[in-house]
Amino acid sequence: MKIINPANHEIISEVKEDTLESVKKKYEILQTGQKAWANHPIGARLEIIKRFSKLLDEHADELAEELCREVGKPINEARGEINGAIVKIEFFLNESAEILKPSIVHKASNTQEVIDYSPLGTIANISAWNYPYLVGINIFIPALICGNAVLYKPSEFSTLVGQSIERLLHRAGVPKNVFLAVYGDGKVGRMLCDLPLDGYFFTGSYETGKKIAETVAHKLVPVGLELGGKDPLYVTDQLSDIKQTAESVVEGAFYNNGQSCCSVERVYVHEKIYDEFVDYFVEVVKKLKVGNPLDSTTQMGAITRASHLDFLDQLIKDAVSKGAKIVAGGNRIDSEGNYYEPTVLLDVNHKMDVMIKETFGPIIGIQKVKDDEEAIRLMNDSEYGLTSSVYTSNNERGNKILSQINSGTGYLNCCDRVSGYLPWSGRGHSGLGSTLSKHGVYAFCHPKAYHLR
Ligand code: NAD
Repeated sequence: MKIINPANHEIISEVKEDTLESVKKKYEILQTGQKAWANHPIGARLEIIKRFSKLLDEHADELAEELCREVGKPINEARGEINGAIVKIEFFLNESAEILKPSIVHKASNTQEVIDYSPLGTIANISAWNYPYLVGINIFIPALICGNAVLYKPSEFSTLVGQSIERLLHRAGVPKNVFLAVYGDGKVGRMLCDLPLDGYFFTGSYETGKKIAETVAHKLVPVGLELGGKDPLYVTDQLSDIKQTAESVVEGAFYNNGQSCCSVERVYVHEKIYDEFVDYFVEVVKKLKVGNPLDSTTQMGAITRASHLDFLDQLIKDAVSKGAKIVAGGNRIDSEGNYYEPTVLLDVNHKMDVMIKETFGPIIGIQKVKDDEEAIRLMNDSEYGLTSSVYTSNNERGNKILSQINSGTGYLNCCDRVSGYLPWSGRGHSGLGSTLSKHGVYAFCHPKAYHLR
């Protein structure tokens, strides 16, 4: 498998893909280690994860550079991802022992009723490339802390990062029969579905997530799906600072080239402030610096998958043919890498793919609305339901709107953020189950009821 730098199409490395035989072998190896790992005291497992976090910190510069070269994100964002990973791990280090402690929940005459937790066993973690550290850590860290063994498949677009994760976990002390990675594309992911694993935890597109859920359904084992989004953002007519709001929304839409599951994907603006907001917004977008991801002044790097450029072209063509107006960008950037201009479309509506399909790129549509009711209706007009945002200086109005939106996360005067303390869960085509918070720890255990008389 050739690893290609999306910023210049150079071959960075070649990696041997796993075969059905090697995948099966790795599964068998994990079967020999899981029980002993689960029998370690939780404190010992936490110590090992703490060492992994320390290693991430010690090697942050080289890991960020590798991430930058492999997926094309700007070096500052790559560094930000490693730091974000360390912060997330801290949540699990601080909270997991308490979350997993057996608890007496009721005493009935002479019987104590206790909830305890057992690991699922050996689980699959099939992962995405856009934040390979962050989305991987949501799964394999709590899974390991709970006492599971993990068969980890990084995306074929972040294979080198996957290798680094595997190497550092082993160096931190996770036994080689408790965490193993398999390398390759969707075919290798499909092989995991045929193994008798005890749980499937997937981060990626709705289309693949649905396939995996259908393939493993007959096993009746836990399945967690963290899928795509078409996240809406509404700018009301009550704002303390329109310019600052525009800057914040631009960041939410274009960070990581729009390749975030919780990127702002569509914007609705109240008609009273529409013109002023759009002027500021377009001004900020036109100043974004697109270029070499290794340059620390770059704000937008390369699009990770070359094939995605065709999809972006298609979205723009479809929108323009139905009446949309391009006010910024609109084209590929002529260069050796996968570069696309940050693009803003006005006069958009829900008949256009750009307001319906997950864009996962640097294109944003802005639609004018006459009131909150229209905004709520449009925000809910989606098969996805990951996050949604409202910008307003009137918190009561903002909370009221957010409570009516069908999404796993609501943001007031912010967007595109994730916290270890809060559940990360999608509704509809955005997924099933939850990672992070106590819910994202319990996801990797079976609860066990004890009636102790
Ligand atoms: P993808 O669905 O193309 O691939 C994800 C993983 O699945 C890869 O490792 C791939 O090799 C594997 N795969 C492909 N076909 C398979 C099959 N038939 N069986 C088993 N495995 C298979 O997604 P992607 O392009 O890597 O990631 C982008 C998507 O992920 C976007 O939709 C994004 O919104 C979503 N995402 C969601 C979250 C979240 O937390 N909700 C986070 C990051 C990314």
